[in-house]
Amino acid sequence: MNGALSISGSNGVRLGRDHTQAAMSALTDLLSGRIEMSQFRERHEAIPKKQSLTMLVNDKCNLSCRHCYLQTDGLSRTQLNVGEWTTIIDSAAEHGVSLFVLAGKEPLTGSVGPCLVEHLGDLRRQTDIRTGMITNGTLLDRHQTRIENANFSYIDISMEGDHVDNDAIRGEGAFAAARPNVEWATRLLDERLFITMTLQKENIVRFPSAIEAFGQLGVKSVGASSYIPLPYTDPALALSQGQLQSFFHGLDALGQLTLDHDMCVQIDVGTLAPDTLVAFMESDWFDMDSMEVDLSGFLYAGYRFCNGLSLHFRFVPWPLSISSSCRISLDGHLLAVEDSLQPRLYGRHTLCNVRDFDFDFSTSYQHALTNLRLRAIDATYEKEVLPRLRKAYRASNSRSTHRRQAITA
Ligand code: SF4
Repeated sequence: MNGALSISGSNGVRLGRDHTQAAMSALTDLLSGRIEMSQFRERHEAIPKKQSLTMLVNDKCNLSCRHCYLQTDGLSRTQLNVGEWTTIIDSAAEHGVSLFVLAGKEPLTGSVGPCLVEHLGDLRRQTDIRTGMITNGTLLDRHQTRIENANFSYIDISMEGDHVDNDAIRGEGAFAAARPNVEWATRLLDERLFITMTLQKENIVRFPSAIEAFGQLGVKSVGASSYIPLPYTDPALALSQGQLQSFFHGLDALGQLTLDHDMCVQIDVGTLAPDTLVAFMESDWFDMDSMEVDLSGFLYAGYRFCNGLSLHFRFVPWPLSISSSCRISLDGHLLAVEDSLQPRLYGRHTLCNVRDFDFDFSTSYQHALTNLRLRAIDATYEKEVLPRLRKAYRASNSRSTHRRQAITA
């Protein structure tokens, strides 16, 4: 798995008009420098939002991708078992969590993930929760009946492009192993099956041809987020600011693709990858006035090309913290989104451990909200990222026109 946020987490439903205005006004005030982060947090928290929970159910994977941020030994001392996970899930559903995402490393290795696929399916039949899974796709054929019965709201399969680009990152044979499962999952889920790409030096220049290759597998939905280098991942994959600028500039090429069917491409721009965020705000795709807000409080801008391809940007230029999305590690640490990319520091960054609260999500979450780590995340953002965003925002306001015409939902 890659990235800290499931790419297809939006339920496609937008916030009501008053809440949208409140969210936009808080953000423009923050980016304009009229308010500081603590005031933004106060105003943003007052807006009712849907909450999601991502669960890291194991530390095993059958691939060894060069960019994998979970590529580290000894993620856990004592892993949560199926009964403990189901207690967490059930209590989180009662707490009001509306989206549950299974992740791993690879959630379909071992026995815990497959059991939770069944449990989430049962819960989904009884409640209106949404469910998702992030997988490398190579093991889906072993669990087809379970997955069919679970009726996932969506599944993200991570791939890096056509077989050449994919295997250069994920290892020889990874594309061939995933391909029949992608085709099966597309038939099962249609547009609810997402291919998720990690943009990096080796695949970013062929992004349009990757979309075309996925389309030829029957895929209708693709998500992309940027590679975030870590001390133990491959530094040669890092993107330069110039490459990111060229990437956004070159997205018009998506409109020239020959497609057999309509496709939707969503690009994630958030504070975990500040360089990508800045490059997006400097591009002429960025226009705050044309954005919409979904029920998670995330901003979206959408554009449609004549060839049937819709291009969406998910714009989240503030630290997510745990307000709309949080994560529980395989040994029970409740973590902010910002800390999920550093598994070696989970023990230090933990907001609390659900074991200490009898695996009850609600009491764990209430305790986590008081942890000073959340203030530290906001303070780091205010010092290191926000000044760049404010500069990019000022520059965007001084551009007299935006040549893009956004679509609205
Ligand atoms: S498939 Fe995902 S979890 Fe497995 S090695 Fe690759 S990036 Fe890591």
